[in-house]
Amino acid sequence: MKILVQKFGGTSLSTAEARANVIEHIQDALNQEYKLVVVVSAMGRKGEPYATDTLLDLISKNGDCLPAREKDLLLCCGEFISAATLCSLLHANGIPAVALTGAQAGIQTNDDYGNAQIVSIVPNRILDLLEQGNVVIVAGFQGQTSGGDLTTLGRGGSDTSATALGAALKAEIVDIFTDVSGILTADPRIVEDAKPLDVVSYTEICNMAHLGAKVIHPRAVEMAMQAGIPVRVRSTFNKHPGTLVTHPEAMKQSGTLHDRFVTGIAHVPGISQIRVAAQEGAFDLQLRVFKAMARERISVDFINVNPSGVVYTVFDQETDRALKALAELGLTPLITSHCAKVSIVGGGMNGVPGIMATIVEALTDQDIQILQSADSNTTIWVLVQGEDMARAVRALHRKFNLHK
Ligand code: ADP
Ligand code: ASP
Ligand code: MG
Repeated sequence: MKILVQKFGGTSLSTAEARANVIEHIQDALNQEYKLVVVVSAMGRKGEPYATDTLLDLISKNGDCLPAREKDLLLCCGEFISAATLCSLLHANGIPAVALTGAQAGIQTNDDYGNAQIVSIVPNRILDLLEQGNVVIVAGFQGQTSGGDLTTLGRGGSDTSATALGAALKAEIVDIFTDVSGILTADPRIVEDAKPLDVVSYTEICNMAHLGAKVIHPRAVEMAMQAGIPVRVRSTFNKHPGTLVTHPEAMKQSGTLHDRFVTGIAHVPGISQIRVAAQEGAFDLQLRVFKAMARERISVDFINVNPSGVVYTVFDQETDRALKALAELGLTPLITSHCAKVSIVGGGMNGVPGIMATIVEALTDQDIQILQSADSNTTIWVLVQGEDMARAVRALHRKFNLHK
């Protein structure tokens, strides 16, 4: 069977006009003789009636006391509504279709409610329905435990449902339809002239996604990479082919991998920098600090250990807990809150001289102070004040000529 998985995000399903575009993409795939699985997210964004954030608002007024299991029960509803609504539209257009919950689609997860991991997919029911000539619509972002309880896969998790189903069904390709024309060189909400990329490697987009480019969920990319299934990120609102995400080998052959040093700029706001100075001879400082963070289950990033102390970052919402844990050790760190991590990502920058100099020049020209930096063979990260974030992203984007 020649199987295609299409996933439509919240904005792609939020209005009648958007849904008409969805039907067109479905019809196009059927015209190309694909057997079609359509994964849907909850309709719309915060404030719109059935969006995930709107469902969360329903219970937020009651304090944060709903157990995670029951919260997942609520969150699954957004995708149920979306699946049934799209199913009704397909029927109205004379297209045979069946809607399934994640559980009915055979997606089994562990019981980490709110952030469950897929442990297996038994796709027999989907395959039978496809054989019978149906479009199979699957509610994204969810599965069920071995005990039959509903779970969700973490925010943005419908992408993961799509690529996991793609892998289980050995789909030819997975199309992620969204509200932008593919993966761009930066978030278009910040950089107006960000350009769509024709092709990126799994690793590049996985890095960008982990570093804040929320156009696709990093776990979804990891799943596609493991299964070797190509993914296209494309717009619901036009017929542009979008961005192909594939293996570096395929990119090397086409020459795309080394054509560019820098692929894109990503950003994450809401970060606090914590600096703990070492007393002379206090060699155990780093061990005490990081053990305390681990005990509190606070995730640390941007770690820099040197004889004069330790520097690291946590999310702003973790700062109070981190400070309390450090105070219990008798430590009084320096805190800079509301910072942002800006990342310059590129599979081709490894070993290329002058990249850091270019970054420093771009930011210095804008009077933006670098609070900290780090690098790997595919990424350079800089920490800046939150108020400088958008200017830093724009300056770097322009300096590396990503607008061209
Ligand atoms: P969906 O509901 O379709 O899953 P998301 O809001 O999760 O949509 O993701 C799409 C959004 O990702 C875009 O509207 C865009 O603002 C944002 N985004 C961030 N970084 C990038 C990038 N590098 N390329 C494209 N979009 C990006
Ligand atoms: N509706 C879920 C969310 O808003 C899942 C998704 O959109 O992928 O996080
Ligand atoms: Mg998304």
